Amino acid sequence: MPRSICVVGGGIAGAGAAFALPDAVDVTVLESEAIGGRLASRHREGCIYDHGADHLRLAADDRTDLVRRVAGEALVEITAPIHQFDAEGTITDRPDEFTRWSGANGIDEIVWAFLEAADPAIEEGTTVTGLARRDDEWVVSVAGDRRRFDAVVLATPAAATAVLLEAADWEASGRRRLAEVAGDVPHRTVDVVALHYPFAVEVPYYGLVSVERASDVVWVGRQECKPGHVPAGESLLMVQLGALWSAANAGARAQETALEVAHRIAPLVGDDRLREPDWWDHHRWGRGLPAGRPEDSLCDRTLEDALAVAGDWVAGVGQAHAALDSGLTAGRKLAEHFGLESTV
Ligand SMILES: Cc1cc2nc3c(=O)[nH]c(=O)nc-3n(C[C@H](O)[C@H](O)[C@H](O)COP(=O)(O)OP(=O)(O)OC[C@H]3O[C@@H](n4cnc5c(N)ncnc54)[C@H](O)[C@@H]3O)c2cc1C
Repeated sequence: MPRSICVVGGGIAGAGAAFALPDAVDVTVLESEAIGGRLASRHREGCIYDHGADHLRLAADDRTDLVRRVAGEALVEITAPIHQFDAEGTITDRPDEFTRWSGANGIDEIVWAFLEAADPAIEEGTTVTGLARRDDEWVVSVAGDRRRFDAVVLATPAAATAVLLEAADWEASGRRRLAEVAGDVPHRTVDVVALHYPFAVEVPYYGLVSVERASDVVWVGRQECKPGHVPAGESLLMVQLGALWSAANAGARAQETALEVAHRIAPLVGDDRLREPDWWDHHRWGRGLPAGRPEDSLCDRTLEDALAVAGDWVAGVGQAHAALDSGLTAGRKLAEHFGLESTV
């Protein structure tokens, strides 16, 4: 029976893996930056805003029951609908069967809820720089230190996974191939701009999504539709820009970006006051969204050596629910590999 398992990466996939591993095993989560990963929140002037994923989208299925059970108290539901807009800026309703959620204190709280339920040791600000397979153990390098574990879950984004696998001191037939596949996963850069206003925007929707994938503005999310995120009488819009826009504006100053976006949003939402936010913020996710996935069989081969991979790129969908599923599956498969019962 394994005594210790290392989960590399503290995004929702890593949290899902830690949650799915049996209670009897010591789990350690090593996260290079902050728990949450691309489920990331910022706090400013009494507002909370999710500057990576805007929400966790759930259908009426088993996963929803699990998320409600684990993160119930931390969840806030976004009940206002999502509408869509076309190239002419015409806004229409959008058929929808999903519920959408953030955390009461920001969307990263959902990741924390899964980790608190799993209760692993957590080390933030800890980057894994190397992996070696030695005598049925994994040696994980961290800032000059070497730690030994019986198994590893790589819940890192595709590029980081590719680097770790490529450099790993580990003789396994699938290692190079999986490193290549991970390294080849195409990603979309996503610029996200927050625009704050000292007045309430009066529209009937939470989010506006573009039907034209190549449009400049692909998403507008009103943070005030998340209970407790924005003081009454104020508005905070999170705007995601498309890949072409990001490529064309790679060198732009953050202030220019924010003001240009405000000028595009005003006619779309139909409120001229939106041209002048009283404060703004900008974040560029260089490898924000993956497209493409490795074959399951390629990932499963690494299980022979007690290593699992997880993440949205493994699921092939840049969505938080898919990353969570991938993490839960990785944890379950690792448990089965050792003949143990997973918690899911
Ligand atoms: C702008 C934007 C908007 C989005 N909107 C939505 C949305 O509305 N709804 C939705 O469902 N999804 C959305 N997504 C996608 C969603 O955020 C991701 O699919 C999901 O968060 C991926 O989770 P993950 O755990 O696979 O990866 P991550 O969240 O990226 O977690 C991986 C973690 O690994 C850590 N790490 C990397 N290398 C190392 C290392 N060597 N050692 C230790 N740790 C390491 C990273 O710091 C990171 O925290 C959006 C994404 C972006 C960028």
